[in-house]
Amino acid sequence: MLSCLNRIVSAVQRRIVEPNLFRTISTTGRNRMAANHEADEVALKRLGIKDPKQVTEQQWKEVLQPEVYNVTREAGTEPTGGHYDKFFSKGRYVCICCGAELFSSESKYWSGCGWPAFSKSVDEDFNIIRIRDNAYGMERTEVRCKQCNAHLGHVFDDGPVETGERYCINSVSMKFEPFSE
Ligand SMILES: [Zn+2]
Repeated sequence: MLSCLNRIVSAVQRRIVEPNLFRTISTTGRNRMAANHEADEVALKRLGIKDPKQVTEQQWKEVLQPEVYNVTREAGTEPTGGHYDKFFSKGRYVCICCGAELFSSESKYWSGCGWPAFSKSVDEDFNIIRIRDNAYGMERTEVRCKQCNAHLGHVFDDGPVETGERYCINSVSMKFEPFSE
């Protein structure tokens, strides 16, 4: 089994985990954040800036909630059971920072690893870049938003047979938008 959880447990056993990996968010904070996600505009719109590459780290910090900033700009990891883990409404998932379309509910499934899982991204990584990640002593492939460089999560090769891949994504990196009728 190569689930996220097993990989993290194995990292703990090797005592090479950095504090950010297990930074926790209070339940109250997480619920508040889930509610806010449905109503809020993505950060780029709130900043009133068109080109995500023009946004400074300080501006991201000012407009993103601390938990979102930690995951998206500092490559942190949210605790398991985030607000989109067991969420299966029909719609699309866009980058919480810049609004780039990342995933569709059609490829979302419950993997049991504790984070939202997708078998593929929109248009074969149209808005996603893959980066080799050797942090914590693990060989993983990190996925980031191609438009604004937000850390999203990782992609593993133990997904459903249809693609063989499992995108393991932090809930706080995304904003869900329901399909219009
Ligand atoms: Zn983005």
